[in-house]
Amino acid sequence: MKTFKEMLVACDWEETLESIFSKTESDVLLALRKNNRDLEDFKALISPAATPHLEQMAQLSQQLTKKRFGNTIQMYVPLYLSNECHNICTYCGFSMTNKIPRRTLSDAEILKEIAYLKSKGYNHVLLVTGEANNSVGVPYINNAIRLIRVHFSTISIEVQPLLKEEYELLIENGLHAVMVYQETYHKAAYKKHHPKGKKSNFDFRLDTPERLGEAGIHKIGLGALLGLEDWRADSFFTAMHLKFLQKKYWKTKYSISFPRLRPHSGGLEPKVAMNDTDLVQLICAFRLLDEDVEMSISTRESEVFRDHIVKLGITAMSAESKTNPGGYVVEKQSLEQFEISDERSTEAVAEMLQKQGIEPVWKDWENNWSYSKI
Ligand code: SF4
Repeated sequence: MKTFKEMLVACDWEETLESIFSKTESDVLLALRKNNRDLEDFKALISPAATPHLEQMAQLSQQLTKKRFGNTIQMYVPLYLSNECHNICTYCGFSMTNKIPRRTLSDAEILKEIAYLKSKGYNHVLLVTGEANNSVGVPYINNAIRLIRVHFSTISIEVQPLLKEEYELLIENGLHAVMVYQETYHKAAYKKHHPKGKKSNFDFRLDTPERLGEAGIHKIGLGALLGLEDWRADSFFTAMHLKFLQKKYWKTKYSISFPRLRPHSGGLEPKVAMNDTDLVQLICAFRLLDEDVEMSISTRESEVFRDHIVKLGITAMSAESKTNPGGYVVEKQSLEQFEISDERSTEAVAEMLQKQGIEPVWKDWENNWSYSKI
């Protein structure tokens, strides 16, 4: 079987975009009637021709999500461990050239942050670091997982892409899922937004989900940073990536995230704006393409938007997030990676879900081995 990199090389960005924009109303209606939809149907559902049919897409997406996931939303919380980074990314407050105080949490500080998150009821934590191999490389991440694993039943990471053997080590120590967003599938645009550092290697990042699949990870999170390039083309390639991985690593679960560019220190304007209606359309299109894929929405999005989208396909959400290391307790004022939009407390978000008849789920996974032997 080919690699995804080989498949992507064979695709032309402009032709893909043209093909999406050439979809007609009859293509959309055909996609809506089908039970098993393919990537051509997905193109139709994210095309401008589908906009007048958004209400029907939303209803179908809601039904499919309820059938597969019930009236539940998985709750998770990000824990930023470090803002040290050796990369330049044009859209990020932690970018190497930004003159900000750099900070990496110590064991004692991690435990303080964790005590706070546990008091809020969280059982799923997403550990986030910048990419600085000397300070937050595999030994640091492995140590953090070992420190945290007795407190959380699910540990995910969003850190620098690693080698297969490194993932295997982390999995052995309690890692459950890895989020590795491609940012954009447009290679030239990727180069422009990642001019320096390890992250400028487009192919190494693109190959990461395959290394994760080989390592036997439980779940892989995919996505593009919406706004760097045309969101329709980037979303199509995300969907293509998902379908490729599902075929090759069928034991692994998958999730999709929908980060839109947010303001940050030294901000970047989106190349192609994506409004709220576009994002609803995209989320519904993913659900119509795939009944099983998990979909999450972060606090980048507004209260109003999150309150409405929770019934239309989303299966996981964060609340009360801080995007600065130590932001919960240890050092509340350090600089954020990007601005949060929904600043409500965990309790307020849980209450919003319950009012809509949705159960917030804090724990859906239990590691059934004893870490004391490791
Ligand atoms: S996006 Fe990640 S790799 Fe890029 S500058 Fe920010 S923290 Fe570093």
